[in-house]
Amino acid sequence: MELDLDGGRLVIFLGGFILFFLIESILPARSWHGSRIKRIFFHSSVAAFNTVLVRILLYVPFLLWVVYVEQQGWGISRWLGLSGWLEIIMSIVMLDAFDYFWHRANHRIPFLWRFHKAHHADTEMDVTTALRFHPGELVLSSLAKASWVLIWGPTTIAWFIFEGLISLCAQFHHSNIDLPDKIERFLYRIIVTPRFHTSHHAVDRQYGDANFSTIFSFWDPLFRSYHQIPRGPDGQLAEDAIGLPEARDLSLSFRAWFTEPFSRRNMGLPD
Ligand SMILES: [Zn+2]
Repeated sequence: MELDLDGGRLVIFLGGFILFFLIESILPARSWHGSRIKRIFFHSSVAAFNTVLVRILLYVPFLLWVVYVEQQGWGISRWLGLSGWLEIIMSIVMLDAFDYFWHRANHRIPFLWRFHKAHHADTEMDVTTALRFHPGELVLSSLAKASWVLIWGPTTIAWFIFEGLISLCAQFHHSNIDLPDKIERFLYRIIVTPRFHTSHHAVDRQYGDANFSTIFSFWDPLFRSYHQIPRGPDGQLAEDAIGLPEARDLSLSFRAWFTEPFSRRNMGLPD
């Protein structure tokens, strides 16, 4: 059954990727200034690199950990006696809450930011940005999440559904899609929309260090970290408004992406 669920994860990932890729190709919110082919190639290589490394190191042990915690009956959800759909929904909300605080910590704690900024160094945003994570961040977040799994105690099925949702939501909110105002005004109160998350990728850090939610968007207003960047007269962001101010020309360099956490400026040394 675990193998079936794992196959399901791949189908969800590829299905979501193709869907959002097609929509952003037909109706892009912003025009790309660089080559899209280069972006697909670069970010797919990052994903392939991470998949090989992280699957071997983390994925199977993590899954075994979730199964073990469930078998032992550990965690708040087990003690509360939650089961069925109530448990699945509560676990999704609680795991998403953890991701909100973990993401916020990634922006506040310099050691974590070193790794997370490899994701933010992208100077454009589209569905391929959802593939751009440093393996160091994936290792650190898995360790933190393993502790939260022990505390909350989700069932394995809830974990799989959460993982599928997170994959779809990350592809959706990184995509270069701009929803019509009417839909946006309704949707951004419940889930993270591309407009909501594009603001989080703003060069201007007062907006970049806000909007940390992943699936449900209400965590930001709830914990006072919602800060939406105003848009230009054409309803769009300025061309250079996305990414980080430093090393903009290196955003599609494998070496720069991989060595970012260990670069001199992150060690507090002059360049
Ligand atoms: Zn971030």
